[in-house]
Amino acid sequence: MAPTKGETLVIGGGIIGLACAFFLHRQGRAVRVIHAVGLDESTSCGNAGGIAAAEVLPLSGPGVLLNTPKWLIDPLGPLSIRTAHIPRLLPWFWRFIGACTVEKRRYLAQAMATLLGTALADHEAVLDATRLSHLVAKKGALFVYKSRSGRHASQPDWDLRRDCGVQFEPLERAGLLEFEPALGPLAACGYRTEDWAHYRDPAELVVELAAYLKAAGVQFEQAEVDEMRCQEGNARGVKLTTGRIIDADHIVVAAGAWSARLSRQLGDPVSLESERGYNTTLAQPHIEVRSFVTFSEDYFVMTPMRMGLRIGGAVEFAGLQAPPNYNRARALLRLAKTYLPDLHTEGGSEWMGHRPSTPDSVPVISPAQHYSNVFYAFGHGHLGLTGSMTTGRLIADLVAGVPVDVDLSPFHIKRFS
Ligand SMILES: Cc1cc2nc3c(=O)[nH]c(=O)nc-3n(C[C@H](O)[C@H](O)[C@H](O)COP(=O)(O)OP(=O)(O)OC[C@H]3O[C@@H](n4cnc5c(N)ncnc54)[C@H](O)[C@@H]3O)c2cc1C
Repeated sequence: MAPTKGETLVIGGGIIGLACAFFLHRQGRAVRVIHAVGLDESTSCGNAGGIAAAEVLPLSGPGVLLNTPKWLIDPLGPLSIRTAHIPRLLPWFWRFIGACTVEKRRYLAQAMATLLGTALADHEAVLDATRLSHLVAKKGALFVYKSRSGRHASQPDWDLRRDCGVQFEPLERAGLLEFEPALGPLAACGYRTEDWAHYRDPAELVVELAAYLKAAGVQFEQAEVDEMRCQEGNARGVKLTTGRIIDADHIVVAAGAWSARLSRQLGDPVSLESERGYNTTLAQPHIEVRSFVTFSEDYFVMTPMRMGLRIGGAVEFAGLQAPPNYNRARALLRLAKTYLPDLHTEGGSEWMGHRPSTPDSVPVISPAQHYSNVFYAFGHGHLGLTGSMTTGRLIADLVAGVPVDVDLSPFHIKRFS
């Protein structure tokens, strides 16, 4: 493909922005990445590391609405909403309720299954090209239940996953222990899927991918975009908070949970919330964990990483500014100890990140409605790492104006207009 004269500007240096930069650069474009925080500081650097291609179900669903009051009553339960944030959350929550029907859940799950169907292959393609394959562990994933009745109650979810093409096998306790001998008596049964891999350190992926791109000629600049500059149906570039203007031929908005302010400036309203999540990384857990494990009835996960065992989860709606409440991370450690009696929970490092979440759990991968040279790549919620490389590939095709191999209509920004 012939390179364009001007630059393609990617706003955002998280994993979505970097994946877009990778595929855009591969098309022969001059690419500049603008990132407000350091490359090693984004949400993409501290997450659970899962390439969770099997995790196609949206958060919304009839069961979620039924459980919400129970979760909210427990101050350290899986879901919390800070009181001061309730008025701002209401429009998002209203749309979330609209996505809770059985039919909508099926539609959204199928959309995600289509998007994530190539996730593992797209990660592999980027890792091969960048010589970073050693960062990934292809160990599948385990889902642990503490009761047969708990597993039975989730049967409709597993049926829907199967309908979406996800492959998995049920396991009884002995089967669980074969994969993860550290599990204690609470682990009763579960499922195993191979449609899953994990990064040994998501920060290392971000930093190494950025280093590869820099060496290949992609420009990086730590700065904050204040304004999108537009004229007659075309974006001209951006204005930084310093006042400096950067011109661009094309712009990709990949600013994670901060993207809504920028899309709104272009006449594209979007319902986007920070769904804050927490984890603790234990350098010396004193147990061996082999693969990614989800504790399905208690809504937390653990990942064996290069620097220790990472245990986390939680959904907290408190906006982008409120200080973290690390008691949430500590509550998850206490829960983990009930499943893993020999786990040493002392001395971990705590972390909080902002999942950029839409009310229907599917991302925005879309051209802008009013400016033909602007594209959106944000809103990946719980699955931003998983969907990153596929998103980058699709965005590069959209920018180039070539046909994409996925029906992108469920991901279009016009659903918010
Ligand atoms: C606890 C937790 C566990 C998770 N586990 C997983 C998992 O196992 N698997 C998975 O797939 N996903 C997981 N996620 C979700 C995943 O981390 C996110 O979906 C993903 O990191 C989002 O990437 P992003 O690039 O869109 O945003 P971010 O990583 O937040 O990056 C946003 C970038 O935009 C920049 N930016 C913002 N505003 C501006 C501006 N105005 N000007 C310039 N730059 C700007 C920021 O500086 C940053 O560089 C998890 C999230 C959390 C919180």
